[in-house]
Amino acid sequence: MKILVLNCGSSSIKYQLIDTEIKETLAKGMIERIGMSSAVLTHAPRGKEKIRIVGEILDHSIAIEYVVAVLMSKNHGVIKDKSEIDAVGHRVVHGGETFSGSVLITHEVMQAIKDNIELAPLHNPPNIKGIEAARKHLPNTPQCCVFDTAFHVQMPHHAFLYGIPYKLYRRYKIRRYGFHGTSHRFVSQKAAEILNKPIEELKIITAHLGNGASMAAIKEGRSIDTSMGFTPLEGLLMGTRSGDLDPSIVTYIMGKEGLSISEANTLLNKHSGLVGISGESSDMREIEQAMNEGDKKAKYAFDVFTYRIKKYIGAYTAAMGGLDVLVFTGGIGENSVAVRETVCENMEYLGIKIDAEKNRSENKPLEISGNDSKVKVFRIPTNEELVIALDTEKIVKQILNK
Ligand code: ADP
Repeated sequence: MKILVLNCGSSSIKYQLIDTEIKETLAKGMIERIGMSSAVLTHAPRGKEKIRIVGEILDHSIAIEYVVAVLMSKNHGVIKDKSEIDAVGHRVVHGGETFSGSVLITHEVMQAIKDNIELAPLHNPPNIKGIEAARKHLPNTPQCCVFDTAFHVQMPHHAFLYGIPYKLYRRYKIRRYGFHGTSHRFVSQKAAEILNKPIEELKIITAHLGNGASMAAIKEGRSIDTSMGFTPLEGLLMGTRSGDLDPSIVTYIMGKEGLSISEANTLLNKHSGLVGISGESSDMREIEQAMNEGDKKAKYAFDVFTYRIKKYIGAYTAAMGGLDVLVFTGGIGENSVAVRETVCENMEYLGIKIDAEKNRSENKPLEISGNDSKVKVFRIPTNEELVIALDTEKIVKQILNK
């Protein structure tokens, strides 16, 4: 099947047309600056030249129209007619407690996504716009959605409840949801595949380390805990997010600096994390470079980043009663030799021992643990778009077979 995968943000849309038979991307691209004066479309068709078009794209509907048009275009397209698109798979950030898996988008599903807007006010509205636009331009094509939260939704109550009055959980749905679920699911399944073992027999920790970063404890194929929480702010140190902190710090800073709620949110989400500590950059490559040149604050940022991952490995190993597999993924997890090395340093007592050569190798082998390591350590490139395409294919095939 040919599945169009859409990830719609407030001013950008990322897309991929994936052929699920061969598990390959036929074309991928992005529209940025939607609603601004000069929007940019970059489009990379497989086996053809990459193109960049600048124009006026006022809203998500026009953007999707462009995407469909460029996919069919004579010189840069990969399909002849839009009927070749068998289904559309949308990435939707927040499924709340409603969704524990991917679903066909129906009227009820749309309503449930709208009901969850309060939980993800920045993300669900553009996701909804993308769904509506895709429906308009591909009216006869089934649409499915895959939620960032779904993989974690069945965590046990001791992992998802916060220590606040229970009635606030009931009233405002304040609980741990967790995010990056598609990535944690993909890389944990991949690890089980590589080991040729049923995932139900494995205790896996996955570390998705990108600009946003989170970890998950996966036991018997299910996420039993994850580091992001009610929002993606909790947990690991991230590019611009603080991750874990004493909640009193928030009110204390608000009082001291005279910050409004929205300013406090911006401080913690946009000006904290790697950029906050280093005062330099949110980009791990730049942090590592500055640190290697002797910049003290960049080193502090790197140290906090890696120390926290280590702490979560310890915590999740305890939560699962052991560990078989540790997976690194995301831009940093896949590429930073230094992060993986530092995180795994002195972890032999837990059975984690990486092979320095494999970890450093330019060939990027999937397994980086030493032959004598009890715990298998992998660096596995994530592929959230492929998961969305495969989930969508499965749902559509089920409908067709009914
Ligand atoms: P996003 O969460 O936006 O999808 P990515 O998964 O692409 O982000 O990760 C981006 C992060 O990966 C940045 O901090 C970047 O510096 C880091 N990164 C990419 N390549 C390397 C590398 N070779 N060494 C260290 N960090 C890297």
